[in-house]
Amino acid sequence: MTGASNLYPTADLRARDAAHHFHPFTDTGALNREGVRVITSAEGVWLTDSDGNRYLDGMAGLWCCQVGHGRGEIVDAVEKQMRELDYYNTFFKTSHPPVIALSERLAQLSPPQFNRVFFTSSGSEANDTVFRMVRTYWDLMGKPEKKTIIGRWNGYHGSTLAGTSLGGMTGMHAQGDLPVPGVHHIPQPYWFGEGGEMSPDEFGLWAARELERAIDVLGEGKVAAFIAEPIQGAGGVIIPPDSYWPEVARICRDRDILLVADEVICGFGRLGSWFGSQHYGIEPDLMPIAKGLSSGYLPIGGVMIADRVAEAFIDKGGEFYHGYTYSGHPACCAAALANLDIMVRERLVERVADDIGPYLQQRWKALGDHPLVGEARMVGLVGALELVPAKGDRSRKFAPVGEVGTLCRDISFGNGLVMRAVRDSMIISPPLVLTHEEADELVARAARTLDETYAALKKDGRLAA
Ligand SMILES: *Cc1c(COP(=O)(O)O)cnc(C)c1O
Repeated sequence: MTGASNLYPTADLRARDAAHHFHPFTDTGALNREGVRVITSAEGVWLTDSDGNRYLDGMAGLWCCQVGHGRGEIVDAVEKQMRELDYYNTFFKTSHPPVIALSERLAQLSPPQFNRVFFTSSGSEANDTVFRMVRTYWDLMGKPEKKTIIGRWNGYHGSTLAGTSLGGMTGMHAQGDLPVPGVHHIPQPYWFGEGGEMSPDEFGLWAARELERAIDVLGEGKVAAFIAEPIQGAGGVIIPPDSYWPEVARICRDRDILLVADEVICGFGRLGSWFGSQHYGIEPDLMPIAKGLSSGYLPIGGVMIADRVAEAFIDKGGEFYHGYTYSGHPACCAAALANLDIMVRERLVERVADDIGPYLQQRWKALGDHPLVGEARMVGLVGALELVPAKGDRSRKFAPVGEVGTLCRDISFGNGLVMRAVRDSMIISPPLVLTHEEADELVARAARTLDETYAALKKDGRLAA
């Protein structure tokens, strides 16, 4: 595919987009002046825009396209399903074969404590479900005072009211007067940015024990759950020190609070295991999932529910007054099933653990030698480069934060590589089908992008002497 089926000139597409399309997470005024990039087709790890330029999709769409673009097998499965049963709901004592098959499949693929799944259409909706499920669980357990949910500063759990509130993005909180009451945030395990003089392991323990300190302050009888991403994605691919997760898991057990692992990015092979919690050896009570579940072919998410929680609802009886019109949509379930079939058949999770993961990590980490890079980190196939003005000094940052990241991202697009900028970090999360040759190409384009960004900053006198 070359994007040849696009009949419209780019200028025309841009003008119509600017006139009528209000974009998510966008300064719409600025975008309309600059003009949007229009993607017209995709195949494997490659995107094509309306001018015929090709880009290596280093972000797998938006962290989601595990199996790569253009897999006809998923398209065929969706078409077949839609011809047979386009849509029916799952509310009124009804079900259908694809939702049954996908529920069973997810129970098999997930850690042993998970045997049931509640379906949503997105990760944000999954976290809204988590919010209500956690609080209702403690009501059912006869502890209605346990209502506060603890999240982390700079965590990301989606963009709905509950998702934004549970997340710790202060810019998002400011719009809509959030968080809602009953949510508390603790520091993130971001050693590079906030670890100060501590070693990574010391800092990891400190950050974990912030959870215990918060529980002490709030009162154990008032805290319902802790929610966190195994590795923070949107916050800048924050990989916690090894000491962090075991201590968090201990605290959740000792203090009788539910552990919610937001697996929307880390789930479905991203870290070289089916779920990020397996990578870190933790046993969550709830796991919101989305993104890689369908590789983005159709929107679907859900919440994996551990037996401990599910049985409280089932044994104590009564209706959970919660659901979405499209919970378990047949076509979305068919897309997810076909996607999971591909992942299993092509052993993509094992591939990330044993083959392409280590291959790309080694080359990505070598970019850490570049004078602009303060740290190059990667687990599985998700990584970041911290751009810094003075190599070797973690305390120095570019000012204002974010400008250099944006510059580098634009240069990267010019070099035919999609990287995302978070503050002044460059992020990648490529499809799990990435070949060795494509990994080499990705790293070569990233290296060229770093060189060009460095040269531009040097010219402007923006690097430390
Ligand atoms: C993307 C994301 C979400 C939100 O998912 P949407 O499908 O965009 O609503 C929630 N949690 C995490 C960790 C995410 O990365």
